[in-house]
Amino acid sequence: MPHHTPLIGTIVAGLVIAFFMGALAHRLRVSPIAGYLLAGVMVGPFTPGFVADAGLAQELAEIGVILLMFGVGLHFSLRDLLAVKNIAIPGALVQIAVATLLGIGIGYMMGWDLAAGFVFGLALSVASTVVLLRALQSRNLVETERGRIAVGWLIVEDLVMVLALVLLPALASGLSGGDGAASLPWVISTTLLKVAGFVALMLIVGRRVLPWALHWVVHTGSRELFRLAVLAVALGVAFGAAYAFDVSFALGAFFAGMILGETQLSRRAAEETLPLRDAFAVLFFVSVGMLFDPSVVTEQPIPLLVTVLTIVVGKSLAAWLIVRAFGYENDKALTISASLAQIGEFSFILAGLGAGLGLLPEAGRDLILAGAIISIFLNPFIFNFAVGSTGSVKKQMEEQAEQAEIEHEKKREEHVILVGYGRVGKLVAHGLRATPTAVLLIEAQSDLAREARAEGFEVVTGNAVEPDVLREAGIERANRMLIAIPEGFEAGAICEAARKLRPDLSVIARAHSDAQFAHLVEHGCDKVVLGEREIARQMLELIGASASRIAAVPDVKSA
Ligand code: AMP
Repeated sequence: MPHHTPLIGTIVAGLVIAFFMGALAHRLRVSPIAGYLLAGVMVGPFTPGFVADAGLAQELAEIGVILLMFGVGLHFSLRDLLAVKNIAIPGALVQIAVATLLGIGIGYMMGWDLAAGFVFGLALSVASTVVLLRALQSRNLVETERGRIAVGWLIVEDLVMVLALVLLPALASGLSGGDGAASLPWVISTTLLKVAGFVALMLIVGRRVLPWALHWVVHTGSRELFRLAVLAVALGVAFGAAYAFDVSFALGAFFAGMILGETQLSRRAAEETLPLRDAFAVLFFVSVGMLFDPSVVTEQPIPLLVTVLTIVVGKSLAAWLIVRAFGYENDKALTISASLAQIGEFSFILAGLGAGLGLLPEAGRDLILAGAIISIFLNPFIFNFAVGSTGSVKKQMEEQAEQAEIEHEKKREEHVILVGYGRVGKLVAHGLRATPTAVLLIEAQSDLAREARAEGFEVVTGNAVEPDVLREAGIERANRMLIAIPEGFEAGAICEAARKLRPDLSVIARAHSDAQFAHLVEHGCDKVVLGEREIARQMLELIGASASRIAAVPDVKSA
């Protein structure tokens, strides 16, 4: 090919190889992040074969960071944090302190200076949001008390890291400014002043202007424009913050997300940016993998082992002790500490920044990357072990819980399972409330599940395609299932999973095309409601015309 296209080459190689490695990780039941990181190693300069452009990958990764942080900001809920603040704040702070001290110890062992050990330890102290949420979701624990504590704990860690990202450049320039000790306070205070300026601007002006602008865009009715507006806010605020206030992209994006998170539009904003965020987050992990020099495994086995032990054992032990000290049961302490026994995106950002500023030696960054890859890889096993293995005290509690569950189950007998509490599901749920039929909801998104619970519905949070979720919803005793999600093909998978457990269950689903309709029938749905046809029928009825010919009209897409 005559063209020189490094940008396209980097994006394509990154996404394609990440896809294959992610799929492989999925099959092996490990976190796909481990797959993406390995994909990065494969297209990186330290392994033979194609080498992607490291500079471009780095810039693409920055977009990933912005979108990830924007997402963290969107979901950041002060209320959730305050609900568990008594344990999450001291817990996270003590754990960060322990990990940082251990990091400084490793730095000392490696012959680094104090600043290097400090950055190293800080990078080891923060867990990955993506890995933690995946672990909790896989066990349906997000909505439980321990799930909330773990998430709150992580938010505190994230906030400390946001602060660290802001202060590191100040620390570096303070330390390099000859009379380091004297200039450090000056640099830190000017940095804090700039951050305060940015925060004030966002809270005073941004808080009014951004939601207003988005509302305006919503009322134009253009979905494309809304999507563009959300991206413009995320990327624009991040870039503007870095340009005008010298604060990191990450902090800018976090604030942009947080301000939108307060509005009614936050869920739509999150949904609209999700595909792009996922794609760039993958490129972020790939670019991190590219930096990794696998020779660290053979050349520095002992420091690597100590690093991994710090992440997996040191941090967990500290977390377990703190949670126990606060009087929580052993199983809660184990779940929380296991979910935090890994490091991820923030550690990479911190390592990259530390190395870029000359604070952290290359070896430190390689150890962090190797430690992250290994700990992310091990996490699902550790988590399963911790959640699955609890002593006799737990047995007793389990029995009590089971007893309560049996009572509960009795009430659930002969109920309708409704999948999805979205636009259609909400109407169906409220409609059923007026009847004697008992309803049990399955909803994948935790904020919607919470909303439904607040409305007084019984809800299982999770993906209805999972047999465990269906069992939890009492599929054995249900007499009907209504699948109110818009994706007909996904609904087909749910129907098939439900049929395997209850071949005689009556299932009703919704579709938006003839292809989906046929797919649903083929996968065992008894009745399928074709949304568009119902709308057409209603329109015809409203003008008094006959709707009888509708069934004969071919579907728009298949016509
Ligand atoms: P809507 O698009 O407004 O009709 O909403 C559909 C709802 O179904 C959303 O709230 C989704 O979170 C939920 N949903 C989609 N797929 C699943 C699934 N596989 N299991 C449970 N809930 C789902």
